[in-house]
Amino acid sequence: MKRSIHAFLFAIVLGIAGPGVQAKDSAAGADDGVKVDKMSSVRKLVSEEQVEAAALQQYLGIKRDAGQQKALAPEGHPQLQRLRAIANKIIPHALRWNERAAQWQWEVNLIGSKEINAFCMPGGKIAFYTGILDSLKLTDDEVAIVMGHEIAHALREHGRERLAKSTLTNAGAKLAGIGASLLFGVDPHLTDGVAGFGAKLMVLKFSRGDETEADLVGLDIAARAGYDPRAGIALWQKMGMVSKNTSLQWLSTHPAGDARIAEMQKHMPSVMPLFVKARGTQTPPPPYMSNVKGIAPIP
Ligand SMILES: [Zn+2]
Repeated sequence: MKRSIHAFLFAIVLGIAGPGVQAKDSAAGADDGVKVDKMSSVRKLVSEEQVEAAALQQYLGIKRDAGQQKALAPEGHPQLQRLRAIANKIIPHALRWNERAAQWQWEVNLIGSKEINAFCMPGGKIAFYTGILDSLKLTDDEVAIVMGHEIAHALREHGRERLAKSTLTNAGAKLAGIGASLLFGVDPHLTDGVAGFGAKLMVLKFSRGDETEADLVGLDIAARAGYDPRAGIALWQKMGMVSKNTSLQWLSTHPAGDARIAEMQKHMPSVMPLFVKARGTQTPPPPYMSNVKGIAPIP
């Protein structure tokens, strides 16, 4: 039976995903890793160049503001060096998810702030807040999971999609100049932290679907770089422990940690082989051990 051409065109216009897609990779083993839906074609209402240029301006602004508050980690800062070393391992595996990323001027900075946050803007501009490293006592594997998640938002152009959708509404029309006042590619939970570094910015919020996709693509990238994807489960267990003690803004906008953990668990069979391959040994990896009491070894 023929598929209705109308339904097909309708799907294209709305950017409804057809069969699941995965990253392009000419190398052998292209079938491995996670599979996600096609990117929404609505995002094409704004160009990548516009989005990346605006994101760059905002990133520079955040850096400048942090610098003025003496909150921008200097080059020799050990935690900054650690973040950059992890980024250097992850980024080569990011390119398969978005060819354009090969041209990005990737950058990683560390901002002194108690906020539990990190982001990667379109164009590969990454920042971590000291709060996420310190409060959650992140291991390297867990840093890689967070970084992979944030990079995935940029690779999957979630910020561009949000912006394009906002231009379709009256609210978006007022922001037509491609947003001097819009903050790109920033997780909803960043809202509070942003107040200290470039106030009055309107944050583009990601959907729950975007969050799930970023979780999965992030696991894929981190695992290929040799980081243990099971650290994602420990990460969200830690988030749950911290959130019991504080009321965090991101909790209201993010899927509950339990739901994220369940989704990650479901996809472990797709990403564990990537990790095993990256480790380069035939022996099965031992259970993932986090570094705090209360988190059991993850088999
Ligand atoms: Zn996110």
